[in-house]
Amino acid sequence: MGDFTLELSDDQKDVRDWIHGFAADVIRPAAAEWDEREETPWPVIQEAAKVGLYSMDFYAQAFFDPSGLGIPVAMEELFWGDAGIGLSIVGTTLAAVGVLANGTEEQIGTWVPQMFGTPDDVKVAAFCSSEPDAGSDVGAMRTRAVYDEAKDEWVLNGTKTWATNGGIANVHVVVAVVDPELGTRGQASFIVPPNTPGLSQGQKFKKHGIRASHTAEVVLDGVRVPGSCLLGGKEKLDERLARARERQRGGERVKNAAMATFEASRPAVGAQAVGIARAAYEVALDYAKTRVQFGRPIIDNQGVAFTLADMRTRIDAARLLVWRASWMATAGKPFTAAEGSMSKLYAGETAKWVTASAMQILGGNGFTREYPVERMHRDAAIYTIFEGTSEIQRLVIARTISGVPIR
Ligand SMILES: Cc1cc2nc3c(=O)[nH]c(=O)nc-3n(C[C@H](O)[C@H](O)[C@H](O)COP(=O)(O)OP(=O)(O)OC[C@H]3O[C@@H](n4cnc5c(N)ncnc54)[C@H](O)[C@@H]3O)c2cc1C
Repeated sequence: MGDFTLELSDDQKDVRDWIHGFAADVIRPAAAEWDEREETPWPVIQEAAKVGLYSMDFYAQAFFDPSGLGIPVAMEELFWGDAGIGLSIVGTTLAAVGVLANGTEEQIGTWVPQMFGTPDDVKVAAFCSSEPDAGSDVGAMRTRAVYDEAKDEWVLNGTKTWATNGGIANVHVVVAVVDPELGTRGQASFIVPPNTPGLSQGQKFKKHGIRASHTAEVVLDGVRVPGSCLLGGKEKLDERLARARERQRGGERVKNAAMATFEASRPAVGAQAVGIARAAYEVALDYAKTRVQFGRPIIDNQGVAFTLADMRTRIDAARLLVWRASWMATAGKPFTAAEGSMSKLYAGETAKWVTASAMQILGGNGFTREYPVERMHRDAAIYTIFEGTSEIQRLVIARTISGVPIR
C-alpha cells in the first residue's frame, strides 16, 4: 500500500503519456464519426488491443498500482480522447470487476480473458444489473435464478435493460435474485458464457450522448448455465444466504448492500467525467484566446476569463476527490463519509457544467457539430445518471455522514 501522493512516479507519467498519445492520435480523430454512426467502434478497440491498451493485463496492472492512481489516470486520458469510444474500450472492465470482486480464482482465470478476446479477435463483455423497474432501486430486481439440483445448473429468467455492450458481448455477467425474501442480500451474480441459448438482445437504445457505446436490453428466457457459473460458488452463496436469514430473523434491517458495493468503483467513473471536462475546457481556453470580438480576444473580458478560471478550479477539485477516493479504495481505508460517492457526484456534475460553459464560450460554433464541445456536452450528461444518479450519490453521502436512514 502506498502513501497518498499527488506526484506521479516516472513510470506512471510514462503510462499516462502513452495513453494520452493513443487518445490524441487514434481516439479523438475517430470520435465524431463513431458518434454519428452510433455503433461500437470495433476498429478502434482492435487498435487499442494491438498496442496493449485493451487487455486484462493492462487493467490488472493499473488496478493493482499501489498508489491507487493507475485506474483514474488511465480513465482520464482515454475519456479526454472521447467518452463514447472510451466507454466502448472500458465497458468490458465493469463486467470484469464483477468477476474479480465475487469470483473464485478459477472463474477469474476462465472468464476474464474471454471478455477481452485477443488482438486478432477482440471481444467485449457486459454487466447486466439494471431492469425496467429496478434502476436506482436495485432491491426491486425481478430476474430470477433457480437452481436445478439434478443437473447442477442455474436457470435464469428476466429482462435486463441499459446494459453497456448488452447482446453483443462474448460474456455477460448477470445479477439475479436467488432468494426474493432477502432483498439485495438475496441476489447473486452469474456468468452467461458465449452463445448460451435463451440470451438475446432486446431493444438497442438511441441515445443523447456516448453514442459510440452500445446500450441495449438483454432478455433471459430459460437461460441455463452450469453450476460453476455462479460467481463465488454455491457453498459461499449458501453461507451468505444463511447469515442474511439469521440477521433478518433477529430483526436486523437488511440494508441495500448494492449502494455500498459500488463505492470503491465510483472514483473510476468520476475520472472519466474529469477527462471529458478537461477536454472541453482545453477547447474553450484555446478558443477564448483566439476568437476576437470588439477588437480584442474574448478572454480579455472577465465574464469569459472568470468562467475559465472556475472551470479549471472545479476540474482540479474533482480530480483531487477522485484521486483521494481511489487511494482510499486501494489502501483499504473505510469510506466513512462515502468519499467514493462524493468523487463521482462532484466529477459528474462538474463535467456537465464545464461542458455547458465551454459551449457558451464557443458561442454559435459551440452549438454545432463542427466543434467537439457539443458532443462532449451530450456525453457528459450520462455522468449524473449512470453508476448511481447524482441524487443517489447524495443519498449515500447523507446517510453515511448522518447515520440517519434518509429517504
Ligand atoms: C447509457 C447508459 C448505460 C448504462 N450502462 C449500464 C450497465 O452497463 N449495466 C447496468 O446494469 N446498468 C446500466 N445503466 C443503468 C443505470 O445505472 C441506470 O439508468 C441508473 O441507475 C438510474 O436508473 P433509472 O434509469 O431506472 O432511473 P430511476 O431510478 O427511475 O430514477 C429516475 C429519477 O429519480 C431519481 N430518484 C430515484 N430514487 C430516488 C431517491 N430515493 N431519492 C431521490 N431521487 C431518486 C433519480 O435520481 C432520477 O433522477 C446504464 C444507463 C445508461 C443510460
